[in-house]
Amino acid sequence: MATTIESIKNMLNSIKMYHSASALEDILKLSTEKALSYEKFLESLLKHEIKSREQKKIEQRMKQALFPEYKTIDEFDIAEQQSLSRRQLNQLIELTWIEQGFNLILLGPPGVGKTHLAVGLGIHAIHSGYKVVFTTMNDLVHYLKTQEILRSARARIKRILDADLVIIDDLMFMAMEKHEANLFFQLINKLYGQTSIIITSNKGPEDWGELLGDPAITTAILDRIVHKCEVINLCGDSYRLKYRASIFGKS
Ligand code: ADP
Ligand code: MG
Repeated sequence: MATTIESIKNMLNSIKMYHSASALEDILKLSTEKALSYEKFLESLLKHEIKSREQKKIEQRMKQALFPEYKTIDEFDIAEQQSLSRRQLNQLIELTWIEQGFNLILLGPPGVGKTHLAVGLGIHAIHSGYKVVFTTMNDLVHYLKTQEILRSARARIKRILDADLVIIDDLMFMAMEKHEANLFFQLINKLYGQTSIIITSNKGPEDWGELLGDPAITTAILDRIVHKCEVINLCGDSYRLKYRASIFGKS
């Protein structure tokens, strides 16, 4: 004969209340000690279930994002960055730009913190309830080219399309073939209007044409990305593109 506790645990598990099942005894014990009412006991059990589910979801999303390193925004030292003020960084941290469908382009030579800032914002976005995917441009091109034959690549592309924020790191050190640029354009086109993108690059958009190989495709990609976009040049000089809306209001 199962005890009442065991029976309750079994029932909780059968309706997928796994966190409640495993914490039931502890919460019962605590509730008895504190002489909580039935309502308060039930409330604390449900709160525990909901909180644990949220934590688990964040852990899963953190894994699925495939960040190359765990670098938080708190660890990002703004003092060095002439082109990004504390006020602007705070605006980025508020994440309203994701809600508004803005993209970010982070520019600068190697080592200035482009990847760190992108990952930091990505981690923060996951903690704020968003779905985030990190990929290098190299890997992205690989996924796009092999999605017809590789299930893993297909799954990755699916996750990218399903994300609220896609970070594309290191666009791009090598020139692309026209076919690759086309696949990239198709992806950007699908993301356009529903997903925010962070692109990091050591070259500004004016040089992307050369790398993407085809002027028409480059223009089409830039139209989509730059339309609602903030360009942050981490090596200091402020960078301005014409005809685009800005996240940062005038100070
Ligand atoms: P990039 O992507 O521009 O080449 P990274 O983001 O990889 O540069 O930065 C190189 C290293 O320097 C990383 O370990 C990163 O954490 C550190 N770093 C760069 N800028 C900053 C900063 N402003 N505050 C704290 N660490 C930084
Ligand atoms: Mg980098």
